[in-house]
Amino acid sequence: MRDATRVVRAGLPAPAQGAPFLPGPTFSGPYHLAGDPASSPYTYGRYHNPTWVLYERALQELEGGQVVVFASGMAAVAAVMGAVLRPGDSVVIPSDGYYTARLLVENYFAKIGVEVRTAPTAGNAQDSGVLVAVDNTTATVLGQRPLALGADFSVAADTKALTGHGDLVLGHVAAREPEWTQRLLSWRTQMGAIPGPMEVWLAHRSLATLDVRLERMCANALAIAQFLAGRPEVRRLRYPGLPSDPAHEVASRQMSKYGPIVSFELNGREAAERFLDACELVLQATSFGSVHTTAERRARWGGDKVSEGFIRLSAGCEHPDDLVADLSQALAEVL
Ligand SMILES: *Cc1c(COP(=O)(O)O)cnc(C)c1O
Repeated sequence: MRDATRVVRAGLPAPAQGAPFLPGPTFSGPYHLAGDPASSPYTYGRYHNPTWVLYERALQELEGGQVVVFASGMAAVAAVMGAVLRPGDSVVIPSDGYYTARLLVENYFAKIGVEVRTAPTAGNAQDSGVLVAVDNTTATVLGQRPLALGADFSVAADTKALTGHGDLVLGHVAAREPEWTQRLLSWRTQMGAIPGPMEVWLAHRSLATLDVRLERMCANALAIAQFLAGRPEVRRLRYPGLPSDPAHEVASRQMSKYGPIVSFELNGREAAERFLDACELVLQATSFGSVHTTAERRARWGGDKVSEGFIRLSAGCEHPDDLVADLSQALAEVL
């Protein structure tokens, strides 16, 4: 079955007369539970929830490994670190990876005796014989399958393109080995990093359109990158879907889609701010992967090694002609 079909059906229960396709969210702290707790699949809301189960089943079909859903992308990242790392262990983390994940290892794990090393994503600084966890947020499971490529963990912020409507915060981990899944489940229950049933249900509902959303977002990102490539104000344009991009070769080898994110630089902070203020359709926001096209001047946060004029843009699902027209009129303001 093709991806586009699988995401529509993923995790749905078998058809039953008079039942909805996707059952609504189950809101429950305690469940009715008389006698031996082992006699019930559901006991208490921090341990399990039927809405989580359906969503985890859906992602499992796509990831190819058992899935545990978490309250946020960072809760998922922290669960992998917490389930695996012990004092005396070493962790290698991308120096250009997600900022908060770097903060977590430096501010917490380094302080309890874990050796932290950093290396850029490009250049393949992975040692052999180690456990590999991939943050697959930008690609999503339809764009790249880390477990099939040999990783031990596939982690994602479902907050971004996977759910894609900018209306929730959520994360998940898929693990190759069932033993790791057990550790992740214990972590979730004992740390209490559990997602709300409403968010999980919204995520499952949104998953059905992942393929169509990504299709349009990636086509829009390419159209935007091609437009920007021809503009003299734009420097250091990056989009892995452009054949001239340094990451095009590796992306083509291991990804089935190039993703929604385009980055580029304008001439300094002021030019970048003027450009973003002049955009009418493109919304200013951090985060990415939503149906709404968004952009931000990344250096406003600090913490990432990017220039003051660096802009990260996430292509949404609007019509490409409208997006290119908006960027074009906004660039005219920069001159
Ligand atoms: C957003 C993001 C996270 C964290 O996700 P939250 O849901 O905000 O906690 C982790 N990794 C990457 C690459 C992200 O973009």
